[in-house]
Amino acid sequence: MPSVAPESWLKVTERGLYCEPGGFYVDPHRPVERAVVTHGHADHARPGNRAVLATPETLAIMRRRYGDQAGEDLQPLAYGEERTIGGVTLSFLPAGHVLGSAQAVLEWQGCRIIVSGDYKRRTDPTCAPFEVMPCDVFITEATFGLPVFRHPPDEGEIAKLLTAQRQFPERAVLVGAYSLGKAQRVIALLRRAGYDRPLYIHGALQGLCDLYRDLGVDLGELRPATGASKAELAGEIVLAPPSALADRWSRRLPDPLTAMASGWMRVRARAKQRGAELPLILSDHADWDELVQTLEDVGAPEVWVTHGNEEALVHYATGRGIRARALALIGRGEDEQEGSPAEEAKA
Ligand SMILES: [Zn+2]
Ligand SMILES: [Zn+2]
Repeated sequence: MPSVAPESWLKVTERGLYCEPGGFYVDPHRPVERAVVTHGHADHARPGNRAVLATPETLAIMRRRYGDQAGEDLQPLAYGEERTIGGVTLSFLPAGHVLGSAQAVLEWQGCRIIVSGDYKRRTDPTCAPFEVMPCDVFITEATFGLPVFRHPPDEGEIAKLLTAQRQFPERAVLVGAYSLGKAQRVIALLRRAGYDRPLYIHGALQGLCDLYRDLGVDLGELRPATGASKAELAGEIVLAPPSALADRWSRRLPDPLTAMASGWMRVRARAKQRGAELPLILSDHADWDELVQTLEDVGAPEVWVTHGNEEALVHYATGRGIRARALALIGRGEDEQEGSPAEEAKA
């Protein structure tokens, strides 16, 4: 048992999780004086905070998206480094979710709490893999926290995409993928599968693809889809934010075959609603098996569940003798990479 009760120093407030002795919020959903940010998705990294502590990659993503609004005082903390704030020791561990994504490790008076943000356990060529650290309290999301959610291997999904590309030399294969993380991952997975033709991208993906490349992620040759002729795009793979799939924009493509890369493509109704002829189950969130495996790996006697299907995971954990509770955090579960209408409108 930790020497201090975890809920006495890390509190759920209406602005988000607040570390009282450290005087900072983790992923606050409204602007605060001091924010610790786990990763660049808009439901975790919001503009307008004064001081922001995050990995250098996350800060670069926030600067790219928010400009001056990223924060007045941006404080980089690389994976494995430590910072002490008001007696609380803070460090970051890779979360395997998107480039720069981190689990925030907080230690105070012998009690260690890990706020994992969003994470996944499978290999992603665009970011550092999730690292396990034992802790007293593990705070987890549960986006796919139901036993029905089991994501298939990425290789099979990418193979489906490549089959479609080969099968229809007169059409363009249009892949809907969120602009931060998913688009770059699809590109990197295609490259890993040996696909070395140029990939065409929607203008909304350019900035973050450039940034990933600047930060050392190899994406191969990317060309702007806007401006390319129909003839040039026949037989090619084009990536665009999901909002562009049904948009006028896609009319420039030769008879597009629409694919969509998301963990939700497991759900037939969602694929249909998206108009995805080719649903690709590619998620940047842990599936049920990964969630359960992670609880086992970190071995925390206590688990707090932030968003998604909290109840099923709380029930599972309780059954395994873990003290578990659902946190009612405001503003989560709108992760742009798995489908927030608000984010898509911006994309
Ligand atoms: Zn996320
Ligand atoms: Zn999220």
